[in-house]
Amino acid sequence: MASVERAGLRGLLVAPGPDLVYLTGHAPPPLERLTMLVMPADGDPVLIVPALERPLAETAPGAPGLEIREWRDARDDPYALVADVLHSGRYAVTDHTWASHLLALQRSAPDRAFVTAGEVLPLLRAIKDADEIERLRAAGWAADAVFAEVLAVGFEGRAEREVAGELARLLVDHGHQRADFTIVGSGPNAASSHHEAGDRRIAAGDAVVMDFGGVMDHYCSDISRTVFVGEPTEEQREVYDIVRAAQQAAFEAVRPGVQAQEVDRAARDVISDAGYGERFVHRTGHGIGLEVHEPPYIVEGNATALEPGMTFSDEPGIYLVGRFGVRIEDQVAVTAEGAERLNEASRELIVVA
Ligand code: ZN
Ligand code: ZN
Ligand code: ZN
Repeated sequence: MASVERAGLRGLLVAPGPDLVYLTGHAPPPLERLTMLVMPADGDPVLIVPALERPLAETAPGAPGLEIREWRDARDDPYALVADVLHSGRYAVTDHTWASHLLALQRSAPDRAFVTAGEVLPLLRAIKDADEIERLRAAGWAADAVFAEVLAVGFEGRAEREVAGELARLLVDHGHQRADFTIVGSGPNAASSHHEAGDRRIAAGDAVVMDFGGVMDHYCSDISRTVFVGEPTEEQREVYDIVRAAQQAAFEAVRPGVQAQEVDRAARDVISDAGYGERFVHRTGHGIGLEVHEPPYIVEGNATALEPGMTFSDEPGIYLVGRFGVRIEDQVAVTAEGAERLNEASRELIVVA
């Protein structure tokens, strides 16, 4: 809260989402009913909840000692309840707050100003403690096991959508509460980084990019591997080896004190030197934790110095539009001396049937 006061703010308003989970452990469904944690810079926090969610809020790990006030459908105005605990002045609002809630709050508290909390909380969340790293490791290893099992699915002749369904099912089998994304891009679709798995039937000669993950115990998994259906061509082999070398170079660049953008450069240099710089169309990585994309972003222009406990993806790729693409992605954690991979699935070139 010291940084909130330094910024000239009277406090912080936290909506359901990763910031609320981080601060209280309370994870209500984000719906039209208002839930809001009000954290005054100079007083005790108050959690405002719909009456029907009070039992859930009371069992949250952060509930003991936290004042909870409830409001009831058709009887109370939740925005007036929030306005009640706000002094005049400026408050920061977390990015996950719905526009409809913020606009209603502005109407109820016209003499208060609201600004975006931006990366204040996400940056606090960027450095994970040992327990958080352990959960990310568990989620990562579960994703690794899913990859190992999906190799036997029989790719040739199967629709991308079917492989995606298999990935989702396996993620839950391996302990995830849910699968959040299951990208399966085959043949020319492998060149589209965020391709939505569709009806295309996977054929011999295809590269298949699989990028999947979900949530286990509130923490996210996210892994990409590219496999080849039948013997790859000379060119496919070469592109695969370049991406793998770039991914390794980025990993080896990670240690405390190194800037996020230097890790991006380490991967990009390998790909540019091989002549494919224009075909690596995205940043090297994103932070991961309670959100699948959060700070620190591993991108040119981000001079954030890495610190032990930061966790992020290392996922360079090369995309040859209309033909094929390759991406290899692991999550990594910054350690005291260097880095640890949170994914151990094989990065060797794998040929499937
Ligand atoms: Zn992505
Ligand atoms: Zn991914
Ligand atoms: Zn990712």
